[in-house]
Amino acid sequence: MNNIKGHCACGAVEIIIKEYGDFVYACHCDDCRRMNSGPVLSVNPGPKENVTFERGEEKITIYHDGGIERGFCSVCGSNLLWYNPAENNYCMNAELFDDIIQNASFGAELFYDMKPGYYSFAGERKKLNRNFEEI
Ligand SMILES: [Zn+2]
Ligand SMILES: [Zn+2]
Repeated sequence: MNNIKGHCACGAVEIIIKEYGDFVYACHCDDCRRMNSGPVLSVNPGPKENVTFERGEEKITIYHDGGIERGFCSVCGSNLLWYNPAENNYCMNAELFDDIIQNASFGAELFYDMKPGYYSFAGERKKLNRNFEEI
């Protein structure tokens, strides 16, 4: 797909991914769960060059979490993105992008060793631990 539009809950921030497939992954790490009240379902558009902030980039508040930038909408609080400047790699909240989640393939679960026992997703897929080793 090309030029995939996404937006936060209030619509102040609009993001376009220039090119992406259908891959969605879950992150079970402590920070994601604490900030979002559960695992985060994410897409990985990759480099900055693949992303356009169509509207409201100035409304994005960045929380510096170690070397990672976590961005959220300062108006509605929607979790928007994670950016690793060292690797020029964006990951984003998959649920911003209606066209992706309609037919997404749920391909991986990350930080699976940090997942608490009280929930699990149905079905089988690749599971990686905090060292990105398959488990
Ligand atoms: Zn918003
Ligand atoms: Zn995480």
